[in-house]
Amino acid sequence: MKKPINRRNWLRSSALLLGGIGLLPKALSAIEIRSNAPFRPYESDESVLLDAPPALKARLSANENPFGPSVKAKKAMDEAVPTCYQYPFMHTRTLRQNIADYEKISPDNILLSAGSSPLLLAAAMHYGRKGSNIITGDPSYGDLTGKAANFDTTIIQAPLTADYKLDLKAMEEKINRDTVMVYICNPNNPTGTVLDADELKYFCTRVAKRTTVFVDEAYIDYLEDPDKSSVIAAVRNHDNVVVARTFSKLYGFAGLRVGYVVASEETVTQLNKYTSGAFSISAPAISAALASYQDVEFRKDVISKTDASKSFLYGLLKKEGYDYIPSSTNFVMFPLKMDGRRFSEEMMKRGVSIRYWEFDEQQWCRVSLGKMEEMKAFESAFHQLS
Ligand code: PLP
Repeated sequence: MKKPINRRNWLRSSALLLGGIGLLPKALSAIEIRSNAPFRPYESDESVLLDAPPALKARLSANENPFGPSVKAKKAMDEAVPTCYQYPFMHTRTLRQNIADYEKISPDNILLSAGSSPLLLAAAMHYGRKGSNIITGDPSYGDLTGKAANFDTTIIQAPLTADYKLDLKAMEEKINRDTVMVYICNPNNPTGTVLDADELKYFCTRVAKRTTVFVDEAYIDYLEDPDKSSVIAAVRNHDNVVVARTFSKLYGFAGLRVGYVVASEETVTQLNKYTSGAFSISAPAISAALASYQDVEFRKDVISKTDASKSFLYGLLKKEGYDYIPSSTNFVMFPLKMDGRRFSEEMMKRGVSIRYWEFDEQQWCRVSLGKMEEMKAFESAFHQLS
């Protein structure tokens, strides 16, 4: 019987080929076949940080952007404070209009919220029900699927391709008559990989005829050309495509809370039943979002600082004899040589928070890219354990 390709074996053999140190490849054509791992409820980034010691040297566990929010956003917040006694109706309308103008859609296609998480919950509530299933990658971001599982939806996971991307073909093959959604996180959290833009657009065109395609683009702003990879344009032609966006990542709003969904008018109306939408966003946060949206200079600056931290981390991992998955985001995943939980605990004792995963019979660490001093704190803690 043909032995299935196992990434762990592959990692070992590639490490041998590359003299023990190597980068995980950018593209491999082989698609790994393995049985579905059971769906595990999602452990939130919050739960990790709640256990952190008070004096954390490097907070590298929640994919936050320490280079934000922008100076313009902070100024806008200051200016919004005196009128905080008013509800921010006008500002939310302007933000919706700005997004609509940029994306060449109608404001009726946009649902704002305090971060995208409430919208993922709304989608879980709207689509999730007993007897239905949602298809996702393994591993992928587990918030929407974890919430939908609470509503008795079956979660079907498709393993990633050999180059750690979502396997669109395998996901499509798993669709059946009970499928209510395919959840695509692009770029994918926790692997940091991005799908080919044309392939994903073609997938949306085909699959949206059969079921809802929900694309979570939380990290898309980190790409060189986010508009090229985004499927927001597909919403215009396909009622079944839903896109989630957040200001939490590149714009540095994780603590401010602004996010939105772009979908058909009908879907916006349905999702709106399960959320208080824009009404949940504070006036300073809305003003800051207005000042930040499509701020090209700020985006360039964040990406260049994030890239410097990424290069530093890649260099460190190579020096210490580790592989890594090349990342298109503000976090990097690499295979560990020890138990993930123990690694995380030992790093935490040294004042560094990270996340760990287990898939493919391998333990993995996901490190968010912080400021250079945080990366150096990671270096010194990692050196003691590697
Ligand atoms: N989607 C993805 C893929 C994420 O990684 C996160 C947060 O880490 C979110 C959504 C939630 O972001 P927020 O609620 O801050 O907008």
